[in-house]
This record gives sequence, structure tokens and C-alpha cells, in this order.
Amino acid sequence: MSIPMILDVERARRETPGCEEVLHFNNAGSSLMPEPVLRATVGHLELEARMGGYEAAAREEEALERVYGATARMLGCGPDEIAVIENATRAWDMAFYSIPFGPGDRILTAQAEYASNFIAFLQVAKRTGASVEVVPSDESGRLSVEALRGMIDERVKLVAMTHVPTNGGLVNPAAEVGKVARETGCLYLLDACQSAGQMPLDVREIGCDMLSATGRKFLRGPRGTGFLYVRREILEHLEPPFLDLHAAEWVARDRYEVRPDARRFENWETNFAGKVGLGVAVDYALEIGLAAIRDRVYALAEGLRERLDDVPGVAVKDLGVERCGIVTFVADGMGAGENIGALAEHAINVSVSPPNSTRLDAEARELGEMVRASVHYYNTEDEVERFCATLTDIVARRG
Ligand SMILES: *Cc1c(COP(=O)(O)O)cnc(C)c1O
Repeated sequence: MSIPMILDVERARRETPGCEEVLHFNNAGSSLMPEPVLRATVGHLELEARMGGYEAAAREEEALERVYGATARMLGCGPDEIAVIENATRAWDMAFYSIPFGPGDRILTAQAEYASNFIAFLQVAKRTGASVEVVPSDESGRLSVEALRGMIDERVKLVAMTHVPTNGGLVNPAAEVGKVARETGCLYLLDACQSAGQMPLDVREIGCDMLSATGRKFLRGPRGTGFLYVRREILEHLEPPFLDLHAAEWVARDRYEVRPDARRFENWETNFAGKVGLGVAVDYALEIGLAAIRDRVYALAEGLRERLDDVPGVAVKDLGVERCGIVTFVADGMGAGENIGALAEHAINVSVSPPNSTRLDAEARELGEMVRASVHYYNTEDEVERFCATLTDIVARRG
């Protein structure tokens, strides 16, 4: 396995304290923070402890604002189109629950849609009489753009798709879907939770109206952080499901005015240290370069899939033409939980992917619990080898 040195892996590892402790293949769960992110986050907490939370916020205004500019640069949009929200689910919810659905409205989504999103579809369908329809996949497992074209009409109010599903290695055709959505003028909400920080994302190129992501996964930010992009032109038409004195202003006894920018989707109280850390994390990814990150992550993951194919009793369950850094597999006669426990004894981190996280895909493919191994650019070929050697031993001993 030979992967071109497209970025400075030595430096990335030197700046990642966790590399000395663990073999971390759980970057789709929560990645290891780089030193500058850790320092900025802890630094702000220390400042709050020493001088007071409000006073620290006033002093660090620039560090707190940084996340808007950095995220806007990453997505190719304006800082006024970014809201910082405590996680990707709430960010997605704030956009989704702002859309006024009624009876007969159609919501189109994809086969490997994430559980939290689908639960929200079901709730809104129950409340409003809108329908939820799943666009079939093509033979590679991606959402079929042709099928989408066939299904779309003027009653489709929203196309909501997960860019990179939580398991399966799949990358859905975000920009092709955007083209179809633009042609009909329906809204397009993209869940970019697993693609942000793993690959370049340009909201104009993708053509989405709204995009949500989290801080702790491939962006390597602190936990409890996320963001939402909403296109400027639709902002004023979306009234958030919750408002407070930060999202709106109480201008007369019987009247409020919602703020014009994307921060209408935020809360007043938030994790300030996390916000500082997220700004540093986004800039850190931009400095390395998201195209370089993608190329290395994809290459490492493809190498891992090849090596796993040689492990007796192990079957990789991934989909797609373009396959990303998320690798999912099962081992004969061994539950995912047991496998993960055995790997943890060797300080190897992976996670479990239960069928109800992507129920439709799991039912269609008759998947049970799978092991999810997700690599990042700071991981190495040596780690891939060590991982597969350890797994080979574990499976052999079990068999
Ligand atoms: C993890 C994940 C989410 C949820 O992100 P949170 O930050 O935990 O809310 C949403 N969608 C996908 C595809 C995910 O993998």
C-alpha cells in the first residue's frame, strides 16, 4: 500500500497529542483534536474562570467571530449565512422545522438517510399531512438522480439528503441533486455532517439552500459544536421554530423582529469555548487543504478495504462509486460490540453502526450491526497494517 505524501503527516501527528495514546479509527464518531484547537478551547475556559464569562467574551470577541468567517470561507458563502449551533442535529432541525409544510406537500429523501432526520420527517408528516418519499438508489448505492428527476413535481417542497451517510463509505451526488432542485425551485437541505472536514464543500457549486454539519467529526473541533448554512435569499422566508432575544428583538409590546442574518437560528447562551475552538478547527482544515485531506483520506480508506478483504471471515459492506473515509465491515460469528471491545484492549478505537441509524438501507441490504472504522489524514499506512493484523488475530482466536 503506497499513498502519496500530499500533506505533512508527520506534522499533523506531532500536533495531535492523541496519536501517542490510541490508534484512532473513529473519526466519523469524534476525531482527535489537534493541539491548537485544544489550546484555544481550554484557553477560553481558563479565561472565563479567571475573569468571568461575559468579560471573557467581550475580550475575545475576535476569536469568537472567527468561526463565522472561517466557515464561510470553507463553504464559499458569506459569514451572514452561517449560524453556530450546538450540534448538527439541532442545526438541521432549525432549518427543517422552519419550513411551513401542509397537506399534500412532498418531502423527498434518500435510502441511507440518518435516523434523526427521518424521525423528524415522520413527526412533521404526522403533524401536517406532508408525505415522505424515498428516492431509490442506483446500482452503486447512491441516490439515483434519474429516479429523482422522475419523482419531482411542483408539490415537492423539500429535497433533504445526507451527503455522506453515517456508515457504508457512500458519497451521494450532492451537486447533481442540487441541479435538479434548482430546476424545479424546491428547497434543498443537505446533511453534510460526515463530509464537512473530509472533503471540499462549496454551497454554490452544490446548489443547496441549507447545509448542516458538526464540529467534532472530520473537522476535529470540540464536542458540542455545529453549524448551519442558510442561503441569504431564503433567510427572510424561514422563521425559526424557536426564537429568543438573540434571534429576535422585542421592539414593541406586541411585536418582535427576527434578525436578518442566519444567526436567527442560534440561541443566546452557547458554548463559547467550543465556538472559539471550532473557529480554529475550521482554519486548521483550510490551511492543510480540503482537497489534500480528501485525497489522503480516500486513499487510506481504499487501502484499508483492500487489506480487510484479505482478513479471513471479514466482509466489507461499503457502497458507492466514490468511496470516502468511512469503512464498514462485519466478522463471521462475531458481534460488532464484541469486536470493538477486543480492539479496545489494544488501544484501537472504532465504533458500532447499528441498523436503526440508517434503517431503510439496513433493511434493504439485510444488515445487522456493523463495525465502523473511519480514517483521517493523520492516520498512517502503518496503522492500517496494525489494525488489520490485530483484527486477524481477534477473528482467528474467536473462530
Ligand atoms: C453524526 C451525524 C449526525 C448528527 O450529528 P450531531 O452533531 O451528533 O447532532 C447527523 N447526520 C449524520 C449523517 C451523522 O453522521
